[in-house]
Amino acid sequence: QTTTKQPPLPSPLRFSKFFQSNMRILVTGGAGFIGSHLVDRLMENEKNEVIVADNYFTGCKDNLKKWIGHPRFELIRHDVTETLLVEVDRIYHLACPASPIFYKYNPVKTIKTNVIGTLNMLGLAKRVGARILLTSTSEVYGDPLIHPQPETYWGNVNPIGVRSCYDEGKRVAETLMFDYHRQHGLEIRIARIFNTYGPRMNIDDGRVVSNFIAQAIRGEPLTVQLPGTQTRSFCYVSDMVDGLIRLMEGENTGPINIGNPGEFTMTELAENVKELINPAVEIKMVENTPDDPRQRKPDITKATELLGWEPKVKLRDGLPLMEEDFRLRLGVPRKN
Ligand code: NAD
Ligand code: UDP
Ligand code: UDP
Repeated sequence: QTTTKQPPLPSPLRFSKFFQSNMRILVTGGAGFIGSHLVDRLMENEKNEVIVADNYFTGCKDNLKKWIGHPRFELIRHDVTETLLVEVDRIYHLACPASPIFYKYNPVKTIKTNVIGTLNMLGLAKRVGARILLTSTSEVYGDPLIHPQPETYWGNVNPIGVRSCYDEGKRVAETLMFDYHRQHGLEIRIARIFNTYGPRMNIDDGRVVSNFIAQAIRGEPLTVQLPGTQTRSFCYVSDMVDGLIRLMEGENTGPINIGNPGEFTMTELAENVKELINPAVEIKMVENTPDDPRQRKPDITKATELLGWEPKVKLRDGLPLMEEDFRLRLGVPRKN
């Protein structure tokens, strides 16, 4: 009996490459704000299959309703602090609450999500040979002493404060990414995301843009936390998604800042929202929380030079788009 020697089967884990078919992409935290917009963009490409793993802590199925039942889409209720077995080519690892109210609600869970969750996704990436992108944060710079913040800045972070579960958690996540890269040769990408806003943000999640827009629509005072001179730079979500995909498909590991360098004080933001959405509302100064960074603005030289990326949507153009979505969800139409 003669045996024909078969070429070795490629690892089933490189499945989609073997069949030259779709790219299979895992998005953790894909039911959340940025994740669901990323899924929308990835699903537009017919070559992509998308799997979302989310525990619905701050996200919801509703954000993904247009894809549920689609043959190229799969939604798994899963907590990333547990082992996950799937076969994919790309992992966008976003799972983590991003709003201070939610990440402070159960800080031990937040740090587990950042550390054990990222370790698990790296273990998965290692097993299947996938490329993995971590959505880190401008919070790794803490209360920055350098302004604007370049990626080379190591930050000024309180390791034992109430925000530490999030910012130190993300710093460890970055360390894990680089250790897996150096030790196991993993293909990694790290995005340092600056404040992002847009439709589908949780209405009552406590972040400043969602708070101000909901307050303006409800006719409540806009709560500017003291001193009001602290700054943030706000990136519209479609620009963010574009930056994340460019980073994933480009050649650079990062970390790369992705954010809009347009910088505003919180008082200026409140004034803009008031003027655009409801000139009748008052602006009220309220107490702040500990360790609030006084300034934040990305240096995006690297993103521009290495990814050819820059944000396109200005704050005053993005706010009305978000207002429209909030009005629909709050059931308060605009009065003409
Ligand atoms: P979000 O809270 O809307 O989304 C996070 C998603 O992760 C939610 O769907 C939530 O249910 C899910 N999740 C949380 N813990 C999980 C766990 N243990 N297992 C599985 N799923 C879990 O937040 P977002 O604004 O979309 O942020 C997405 C990512 O971007 C986060 O990693 C965040 O740290 C990062 N980021 C966001 C901003 C911003 O301004 N939005 C800024 C910097 C960094
Ligand atoms: N892991 C996972 N999915 C996989 C492979 C690994 O969730 O497909 C998790 C696994 O639970 C482990 C972690 O990733 O705890 C780190 O995996 P790695 O292989 O790097 O380390 P080890 O298992 O040897 O500790
Ligand atoms: N902030 C505010 N009013 C609010 C909520 C937040 O003035 O109702 C301020 C907060 O003190 C901080 C800034 O807005 O200086 C951004 O806060 P957010 O929680 O949106 O994001 P992060 O602190 O993570 O950048």
